[in-house]
Amino acid sequence: MSATATPSPARPASPLNVARLRADFPILGTTVRGKPLVYLDNAATSQKPRVVIDAIRHYYEAENANVHRGVYYLSERATAAYEGARELGRRFLNAREAREVVFVRGTTEAINLVAASWGRVNLEAGDQVVVSAMEHHSNIVPWQLICEQRGASLAVIPMNRRGELELDALEKLLRGPVKLVAVAHVSNSLGTINPIREIARLAHARGVPVLVDGAQGAPHFPVDVQALDCDFYTVSGHKMFGPTGIGLLYGKAALLDAMPPYQGGGDMIHTVTFAKTTYAPLPAKFEAGTPHIAGAIGLGAAIEYLGGLDRERLQEHEADLLAYAADRLATVPGLAVIGTAAHKASVVSFVLAGVHPHDIGTIVDQEGVAIRTGHHCTQPVMDFFGVPATARASLAFYNTREDVDALVAALHTVRQTLTP
Ligand code: PMP
Repeated sequence: MSATATPSPARPASPLNVARLRADFPILGTTVRGKPLVYLDNAATSQKPRVVIDAIRHYYEAENANVHRGVYYLSERATAAYEGARELGRRFLNAREAREVVFVRGTTEAINLVAASWGRVNLEAGDQVVVSAMEHHSNIVPWQLICEQRGASLAVIPMNRRGELELDALEKLLRGPVKLVAVAHVSNSLGTINPIREIARLAHARGVPVLVDGAQGAPHFPVDVQALDCDFYTVSGHKMFGPTGIGLLYGKAALLDAMPPYQGGGDMIHTVTFAKTTYAPLPAKFEAGTPHIAGAIGLGAAIEYLGGLDRERLQEHEADLLAYAADRLATVPGLAVIGTAAHKASVVSFVLAGVHPHDIGTIVDQEGVAIRTGHHCTQPVMDFFGVPATARASLAFYNTREDVDALVAALHTVRQTLTP
């Protein structure tokens, strides 16, 4: 099929008013290399709506002060805004209490916090932490670090060739000395949506807590930590239309309460003497030092923005885009999709016969199309599928069928340029 192949008429486009939503995101109206920006790297980071940008600017222009410390007007305003953002985070995840929501830099810090703190008091020689075959490095390496310290080891839930976890194997693993299961809600390189509720049910039947790496969950669908019945859940603000450098760690209060501090410093203490320090209650115990106040406020604005949208509609639109992308990518000769799970978020990894993914990324960039190429911080996934890297288009609700068409047209150009 030629580069001008027309969209499949079989599937009616979703009724979401995407043009109106796109207008909320200033960057989406810009051009790159003289072409309209086609942004398809949302799994790396999402774009920001004007309300988020404005909230950050307003904080610095009108409310900037340190939190929790001053008795003066501005500090009280900043504290109220910061704690207000925490309450928005609580509602966003449906946590029972605001103290179960800790501000962190993002998913990486959230997992490091749990691994270092929970792991220090709960892992012993011979114990196992179970991760899955599709984890991001940030849900592997922190566990390796603490396992090495404690004499524990990792065990891995395998996946099939579609990129779906094998829960029978998890059940078998859980008969061993497993102390925690840590698994992604959505795979960033395959798009697979994992059955968290079922995983939690299996683990809890053995008394094993479950940490969910939610970096790629919250951007695509509402998250309810009580319904999932997970013990920890992590969020990266920048992947869900909020700022970089801020995220959420949800943890069940009983677990967080029993964990030692992760970092020491100001704000996380109750009393300090040279002889002994006692710690502040949750969530301050885990928030040493001046936090990313502007980031928390920006994240709060992103949560409010999402709260004002019909998220079911957004999900339908993304499902439409995913199906449309699968149809259209199938028109590119030599293209193979990596990750074909039955339950997928709008993330499509692919390889093109005879072309290195980095060359794909460079050439489509000339057409204004931004995709990610590489191992996506999931080297074990690349090893499993026997590829050095993939190209990845990851879609958000503000993407359109035209964006997919632009990618597919650019891929035809790649083939014409690079294949004999
Ligand atoms: N887990 C997954 C599944 C991710 O996609 C990412 C980001 N690529 C991370 C963890 C790490 O998130 P962050 O860089 O925001 O800490």
